[in-house]
Amino acid sequence: MSNASEVLANLDSELEWQRELYKDLHQHPELSMEEHRTAGIVERRLTEFGYDVQRLGGTGVVGILANSAGSTVLARADIDALPVTEATGLDYASSVDGVMHACGHDMHAAALLGAAKLLADHRDAWSGTYVAVFQPGEETAAGARAMIADGLAAKVPKPDVAFAQHVMPQEAGTIGTTPGPVLSAGDSLKITVHGRGAHGSMPHLSIDPVVLAASIVTRLQAIVSREVQPGQFAVVTVGAINAGTKSNIIPDSAELLLNLRTYDPDLRKRVMASIERIVRGECAAAGSPRDPQFDYYDQFPLTSNDPAVTERVTAAFTGHFGEHAVFRVAPVTASEDFSELPDALGCPYTYWTVGSVNPERYRKAVASGTVLQDIPANHSPAFAPVIDPTLGIATSAHVLAALAYLSKQATNEVAP
Ligand code: ZN
Ligand code: ZN
Repeated sequence: MSNASEVLANLDSELEWQRELYKDLHQHPELSMEEHRTAGIVERRLTEFGYDVQRLGGTGVVGILANSAGSTVLARADIDALPVTEATGLDYASSVDGVMHACGHDMHAAALLGAAKLLADHRDAWSGTYVAVFQPGEETAAGARAMIADGLAAKVPKPDVAFAQHVMPQEAGTIGTTPGPVLSAGDSLKITVHGRGAHGSMPHLSIDPVVLAASIVTRLQAIVSREVQPGQFAVVTVGAINAGTKSNIIPDSAELLLNLRTYDPDLRKRVMASIERIVRGECAAAGSPRDPQFDYYDQFPLTSNDPAVTERVTAAFTGHFGEHAVFRVAPVTASEDFSELPDALGCPYTYWTVGSVNPERYRKAVASGTVLQDIPANHSPAFAPVIDPTLGIATSAHVLAALAYLSKQATNEVAP
């Protein structure tokens, strides 16, 4: 019996409590950086399993299991929910008004706890150190930073490798891996432009910031279409324009909220520079009396998988789940703060996706070309991962990835 099959032999009995835990977390979602109940549950379970447990960054929890000499593996699950009103109709739907686990972080937490328990129960099958990180505040990009600011690097042994996963609207029973960029860098930007207010009947006395904002929105569309090389990935979205109060008052300023996504750090800088150049140019054209302001917020780093780590983990997945279950996932345009942890700790990482849609339903949607319409994606009020086999696959994936580095037979070397 291989180490992995020895550790995973008890998976079915663990899944019984994991399903209950998942439903409980789903019913009691907590917003970013307010995950007090969830953190308490995680803390109690990890302590029960024999982990050395500490709190970091308020509602972050770290469990360390030192099991003699060998590599150190860090695995991270995010635990926060979203300000979304659940519309799944599930019998374990959210009991909290306006808050929902609409991104599947409850699944990540239940899976990592299961993997942590299996590894703790089978210490004879591996050696090294396992660090299970339950990170708050992923949705606001605050959680990884809070844990790092609270001394993560000094409080955990330096990992040789780090892992994270995310449930996605893909076929349950499948896992997606890819070397290189897997999630985009994401930046939010608030732009304030200034005009001169006046009565709506006397536009000649004004410098109208609404017209200015409208020109900016139109002109920004030319960045991706005219300045970015065709085939290179960039998104510039104006998600909000706020100005004015009444039809007959020209306001004196306007605010635009932008969202940017890129895979290439140089392109990211160029897109930001283009935005600022265009906004300044339009302000000058309008005769704006004051310089525009640019405030960047909710900034997510690029998630770019280490090729050697990805290859090793993919081989472990394929060996256990079979070739049919593991596919090369195309980079996703969503963003994550996970990579801040391995970047702060100085180790390579890989991040994979886990299918969560009933296979029959998924295949039907693919056959009729209606995946985008018929399958609710993450953040949708109807997002409802199927518990089986998603939870079992996600739990096994963490065990398999860990054992690829902690197994007694493994060379325990991270390729450069
Ligand atoms: Zn999310
Ligand atoms: Zn998420």
